Amino acid sequence: MKIDRIELFHLAFPLEKPFYPAWIPGYPQTVNRFTLARMTTDEGVQGLAAGAAFSSERAGLGDLLGPYLIGLDPCDIETGRQRIREASYLGWRNYWLEAAFWDIKGKVEGKPLWQMLGGDSDRLSAQQRLPVYASTGEIHPPEQRAEEVLALGEQGFDTVKLRVHDFDAEEDIRLVRTVAEAVNGRLQIGVDANQGWRVALIDDAPLWGLDRAAYFADACADLGVAWLEEPLDMHAWDDLAELRRRSRVPVAGGELNDGWHEFRVMLEKGCFDIYQPDATFGGGISDAKRVQCACAAQGLHFAPHTWSNGFSMVVNLHVHASGAMDHPLEYPIEPPGWTPKFRDALLTEPVLADENGTVAIPTAPGLGIEIDENQLKRHGEKFFDLSSKGLAIKTIREKGLFTALRLARKKRRR
Ligand SMILES: [Mg+2]
Repeated sequence: MKIDRIELFHLAFPLEKPFYPAWIPGYPQTVNRFTLARMTTDEGVQGLAAGAAFSSERAGLGDLLGPYLIGLDPCDIETGRQRIREASYLGWRNYWLEAAFWDIKGKVEGKPLWQMLGGDSDRLSAQQRLPVYASTGEIHPPEQRAEEVLALGEQGFDTVKLRVHDFDAEEDIRLVRTVAEAVNGRLQIGVDANQGWRVALIDDAPLWGLDRAAYFADACADLGVAWLEEPLDMHAWDDLAELRRRSRVPVAGGELNDGWHEFRVMLEKGCFDIYQPDATFGGGISDAKRVQCACAAQGLHFAPHTWSNGFSMVVNLHVHASGAMDHPLEYPIEPPGWTPKFRDALLTEPVLADENGTVAIPTAPGLGIEIDENQLKRHGEKFFDLSSKGLAIKTIREKGLFTALRLARKKRRR
């Protein structure tokens, strides 16, 4: 079986109300944008993948991808990963595409992704759902945030993550203390400092060093915080390891780190207690799985980042379900701007938490995602469509018939 056609779409879903991400101070997000890839094999099996986008920055991606991916066996994940990596030498990283390969492979084998990744079928069939934590995304005044956290507790969540992003450490601590006192031990609180990939695009953003992180970690420990996330730059590995040695609260992070070659060193240095690679960003599904296995072997925790769109939620849900699930999974929610309905707007079935703070583990083959074709028509714009026939014509035009035939022969032999 071969990949015969690649289609790429820009997707843009306007949010009902602007969302103000804590990690980009001053920036009102009004649209959830991503690139959708649909790969179709010569047997008609389709695989889907989506990557978060700022705008239409991937407009030229198809011209780069076509020659790398058309003609590949989609069930040969290793070669697919190698080609995605090769394309990144000329473009930017595109590990989000790996999901489409697994989607096809799962449909061919009749297995959900978590099962292909080694998830325990007996346990998951019996369990059917897995626990999530409510991941808030904005900075709100402490008293307001305390009320919102209590409301999330009433909705069924037993763990909620806060954001802190103030220049004054005491303000950050006041926020956490106000919430901790309000919940009084009835809920677990995680705190994300979003220092891993600090963005100061609109307003200036605080920049933490080891001392600020250690001071804040101390306060978190005194307030019973369950974990402190991204307290330092994602590449400040020595400082992260030092912070973890000093900290009485578990340290988490890694959401945008670039795959196994980075995580291997971070594990050796002892950067985190909880590793959070996002399988749709750096390293893809296979590297996230590798980090998960290493965490299990070393007695560490694993809980992937999921914040961006419904695909990230579902792909990381599969990866999470294939492992120990010894930490709840991130469930982005910050109404009225960021809601599951908008996060998952392209999916026919959004991932929804129930009254026990759990989500369903997908059972359909592959990713188990059905996209809503009406939503795709309404909010999507196809900007690339290439089949193997189209690629052959393009190659003949650019390189001449003789060379095109020689290249095709070589490709067939691989
Ligand atoms: Mg985070």
